[in-house]
Amino acid sequence: MQTNPPDSVVSLSTPKGSVPSDASVVILGGGVIGTSIAFHLAEAGATGVVLIERNLLGSGSSSKPLGGVRATFSDPGNIMLGQRSLEAFENFGEKFRTDIGLEQVGYLFLCSDENALLDVEESSKIQRNLGGSSQMLSPRQISEINPFIDTSSLLGASFSPRDGFAQPSKVVHAYAQAAQQLGVTILQDTEVLDIDATGHQVRTVHTSRGAIGTSSVICAAGAWSARLGAMADVYLPVEPVRRQIGLTRQSPEPLPKVPFTLDLATTLYFHNYRNGLLLGISNQDQEPGFCREFTYGWLDSFNRAAAITAPSLVDPDLEAGWAGLYENTPDRNALIGKSHDVDGFFYATGFSGHGFLQAPAVGELMRDIWLDREAFMDFAPFAADRFAGDAATVREVHII
Ligand SMILES: Cc1cc2nc3c(=O)[nH]c(=O)nc-3n(C[C@H](O)[C@H](O)[C@H](O)COP(=O)(O)OP(=O)(O)OC[C@H]3O[C@@H](n4cnc5c(N)ncnc54)[C@H](O)[C@@H]3O)c2cc1C
Repeated sequence: MQTNPPDSVVSLSTPKGSVPSDASVVILGGGVIGTSIAFHLAEAGATGVVLIERNLLGSGSSSKPLGGVRATFSDPGNIMLGQRSLEAFENFGEKFRTDIGLEQVGYLFLCSDENALLDVEESSKIQRNLGGSSQMLSPRQISEINPFIDTSSLLGASFSPRDGFAQPSKVVHAYAQAAQQLGVTILQDTEVLDIDATGHQVRTVHTSRGAIGTSSVICAAGAWSARLGAMADVYLPVEPVRRQIGLTRQSPEPLPKVPFTLDLATTLYFHNYRNGLLLGISNQDQEPGFCREFTYGWLDSFNRAAAITAPSLVDPDLEAGWAGLYENTPDRNALIGKSHDVDGFFYATGFSGHGFLQAPAVGELMRDIWLDREAFMDFAPFAADRFAGDAATVREVHII
């Protein structure tokens, strides 16, 4: 059984030796979010940008074989991040001269109860009002576009043809390489050990390879962000939760090409990967924690769900499987903004399982927040301090 994802290696040569003594900004974390921010800052002409990654680029949650990309959400902010990112993914080949394996097969969100159907109908409307093309399908139409589905328990589904999936490692590589060419110092095998924010102002980032004097940091450390925030006394409520996926044995013949399909009732999901299927479920029995070891524990709940939604997928014949971390916030929506308590502490984290699909837009947004210029959307609802006091949290239907 293979437990290292294919197509996940991000190979980029980066400097060894000691770190620069100062920087205008230090980006903490070299996943898809950190590298996107680095690229967008450098593209806008920022100088003195340093990105620090403890291991190899993409070795956190961004190294999964395939990442779903979509603008299917109910919250307008999430929809805008998704739409803006879809546009960027569509233009990626031309802009970065690389193939990120984008396949716009659409997303299918299955509904089996009246409330879910009403919610999904409403979010389809919001998406269309913002320029999206999501539409509602009947059970008969669902079986036409996804023959794996047993529609007997279903009332309908939303289908958004522009969505799909792509390869996160290719995106990380393209952003990192372009950022490096534009002058960003990218350091791998370099761990952030502490952040000096004496007097409520970021002053120094202490790393395993020396100290960097800086007046600002951007935390893009995914599931590990709470620890980095705590170093500077900034509360970032991000909880790591293991999420596992399996890949079925490659069949000699291509399988029917289906949309990225998610069942809202059971949280089962699957989509094509070459001549197999990538499949998984949001396992409600999974305790929070940093464990990234692959096990078969999630298969029981997957099989129970598949028996209802996609009976031919019960007891899948797996040739590979991977475990990674979701970086969950209390309302399962991102933390994007800057600290009001510590000057110079910015953050883009807590994407709760949809960080890949939002990464291009978040890079743009964080560039504008850091440069203090007008952004393409209002990021205030994603502030981390929404969990303090009575501030409204973000409600999102399309999260599993
Ligand atoms: C099984 C699975 C399936 C998923 N499917 C999807 C999907 O379909 N679509 C989607 O959009 N998203 C999906 N996600 C979520 C997505 O992978 C993440 O939201 C995204 O990769 C987060 O990127 P990031 O850059 O914030 O974090 P990461 O990629 O985790 O990067 C953070 C980096 O910070 C580094 N770091 C941590 N601490 C330190 C330190 N002290 N010093 C230096 N560096 C440090 C880590 O090594 C890591 O490389 C999935 C996740 C999993 C696990």
